[in-house]
Amino acid sequence: MSTVVANQVELINPALGSAFERVDLVGPDGADEAISRADHAFRSWREIAPGDRARLLRRFAAAVEADIENLAALEVRNSGHTISNARWEAGHVRDVLNYYAGAPERPNGSQIPVPGGVDITFREALGVVGIIVPWNFPMPIAAWGFAPALAAGNTVVLKPAEVTPLTAMRLAELALEAGIPEGVFTVIPGRGVDVGDRFVKNPLVKKVVFTGSTQVGKAVLAGCSEQLKPVTLELGGKSANIVFADADLEKAATAAPFAVFDNAGQDCCARSRILVQRSVLDRFLGYLEPAIQGMRVEDPSLPTSEMGPLITAAHHERVSSFLEDGDPVLIKGTAPEGPGFWFAPRVLGPVSPTARVAVEEIFGPVAVLIPFEDEADAVRIANDSQYGLSGSIWTRDVGRALRMSKSVQSGALSINSNSSVRYWTPFGGFKESGLGRELGPDALNAFTEEKNVFLSID
Ligand code: NAD
Repeated sequence: MSTVVANQVELINPALGSAFERVDLVGPDGADEAISRADHAFRSWREIAPGDRARLLRRFAAAVEADIENLAALEVRNSGHTISNARWEAGHVRDVLNYYAGAPERPNGSQIPVPGGVDITFREALGVVGIIVPWNFPMPIAAWGFAPALAAGNTVVLKPAEVTPLTAMRLAELALEAGIPEGVFTVIPGRGVDVGDRFVKNPLVKKVVFTGSTQVGKAVLAGCSEQLKPVTLELGGKSANIVFADADLEKAATAAPFAVFDNAGQDCCARSRILVQRSVLDRFLGYLEPAIQGMRVEDPSLPTSEMGPLITAAHHERVSSFLEDGDPVLIKGTAPEGPGFWFAPRVLGPVSPTARVAVEEIFGPVAVLIPFEDEADAVRIANDSQYGLSGSIWTRDVGRALRMSKSVQSGALSINSNSSVRYWTPFGGFKESGLGRELGPDALNAFTEEKNVFLSID
């Protein structure tokens, strides 16, 4: 596993299980210094003309574009992502930057009719924004925070996960190369209890964006409450993929493996509970089984690879522990033998909706199959979860699709599709999957404070 020693982390290639680099970690004092520099940089960054800030963000996007192959290779080595996913992720960072580069020059307040005067609102940047990133999607999750935060005129300090710092560190270099001033976007590799904790406690940090486990997210929220510091939380999930008898079963079943096993199931949006109407269970399984067995779980640097390894030995152990409960393995795919943290994808089932594997977030390539009887049963099972992040509904009945969309308690649903993330549509969770929304046209609201000004004309 990756080992965090005194002031360094030894990075392990998850596909090989061997160390390839050591990275220095910043401690609490170093974090405070970086926060002070970001606070200082805020004073000039907020004053930059909107067109100039937009231009700098576009130059940052262009620098990312030129570095896609390098960023992707880093993510393959550091995180075990497949090369095709890693290229997409780097391209996604470019796209998110370009999208929010449009924001500085767009209207950012309103004018409200009032008697006796004029009323206008401003949306003002907050100051230093602290962004805490998990290891599962180091690049996209970082960009969802830093691109709109910078566009709104804030400066950013960002902490990558201990075991996956490389792409975030490279993005910080690219920002500087693109002309983003020193101190505006700083990446601080470090431990959660050191650097992450300073984002929560240092009063110069005016907002925290946290993506990670529900457990740590709750602690971050509690810590921020001491200063009434605003927080956005993107947390865990146990999303339902609900397939009705009237759906295109072949399409639903052949898409289902990628909706949960993409990124080796280390995806907060993973549709890890597959709910199938009982009357079509056998037909659905007839399509699902070959789709899973045909998945190419192999060296992530190969262009054909569809699934790579788990992130660390410790995580491999945690995912494996879910198999010890004795729930029946219905379908099992393949995985390479030998070194690396490989784990063959599998579907357990049929399982009870209350079984541990059906309730807890496994965060690995393990899905559960749960049969249901009718619409009401599907809604009841889907909503019987502490989480509510994403989910899919497969049916040809438009009325049912809309009824289900209203009934399922989840922040990002898709109908006859498993796609959850587009940078221009909002993303975030219900219940213990999160607080607030990222992405989409309103993302800057989370990085600004609204001020109302009344001007008397009497
Ligand atoms: P984690 O909560 O262990 O760590 C996330 C980040 O928080 C890391 O950078 C870590 O160093 C930091 N951290 C740890 N302790 C901290 C503390 N006391 N104070 C401040 N920061 C601290 O999560 P993880 O294991 O890295 O990531 C997996 C989890 O993230 C899963 O639950 C997954 O569902 C969730 N996730 C959610 C989304 C979403 O958008 N909803 C996206 C990706 C991952």
